[in-house]
Amino acid sequence: MTSVVPSSATIITGGTRGIGAAIAERLAGSGHSLLLTYRNRDDEAIALAERLRARGAHVELLRVDLAHLDAAAEVLPTAIAHFGTVTGLVNNAGITGRIGGFLDAPIEESELVFRVNVLAPMVLTRDAIRHMSTELGGRGGSIVNISSGAATSGSPNRYVPYSMSKAALNVLTLGTAKEFARAGVRVNTVSPGTTRTEIHADAGRPNAPEERAASIPMGRAGEPHEIAGAVVYLLSEDASYTTGADIRISGGN
Ligand code: NAP
Repeated sequence: MTSVVPSSATIITGGTRGIGAAIAERLAGSGHSLLLTYRNRDDEAIALAERLRARGAHVELLRVDLAHLDAAAEVLPTAIAHFGTVTGLVNNAGITGRIGGFLDAPIEESELVFRVNVLAPMVLTRDAIRHMSTELGGRGGSIVNISSGAATSGSPNRYVPYSMSKAALNVLTLGTAKEFARAGVRVNTVSPGTTRTEIHADAGRPNAPEERAASIPMGRAGEPHEIAGAVVYLLSEDASYTTGADIRISGGN
């Protein structure tokens, strides 16, 4: 059983659907107070928050488009205003851009992918480390970046810019893990393979999980709850000596 720091308070970006919602479900059951951010789907966000609150969890919602970095800078202060202290950050919100060949990817779309997948996590990570660092008067903390197996495959003919953004996120993990290892802040990555969420419909291929199943050693796509446990572990004291790690959860790929 993973142990939890008493009064853990964790931010999950994109925490209202898909993998982020599965992480929220697990953390709520582990006693975390949660700030869940989302972009615009109020109904799903409110329904999840009400479900978790009915189980006794302290859940706050923040609607924020992380493509706007000024807005991203409001996330940490909002969490601190609600909880006093923040002990965990999960940089989960991400977009792929439309599936297609590299030559067809509009540069404006790639810029958006980098804003949401790389620059917003940078903003949140900086703010979180300033708050958590024991060298700056904080009480330490744990940051988990949700990357992708795409970071190491390149995803040719699918979404090279998305893969580039996730490779950059992996380097954010490595660099900050080492720079702040002595400041009580651990930074790790979880890298899912194809997982059954709506991200594929948003990319224009709702059936991508089924289409890719044959190329996955386990013969199927993953489910969001199969990703969440690794995140819970990395946030917990059981991972107290783990930083700069990447847990790949991809059915063998
Ligand atoms: P998803 O089902 O599409 O959910 C995305 C979540 O992020 C939603 O809560 C959404 O809010 C929020 N979001 C999207 N764009 C946002 C923005 N600009 N600003 C703020 N919030 C935003 O995604 P998912 O499949 O769970 O993916 C979660 C993470 O796992 C991503 O980083 C993704 O790259 C990574 N990943 C996924 C897969 C996969 O196959 N699913 C595989 C590898 C890695 P709304 O509900 O308001 O839209």
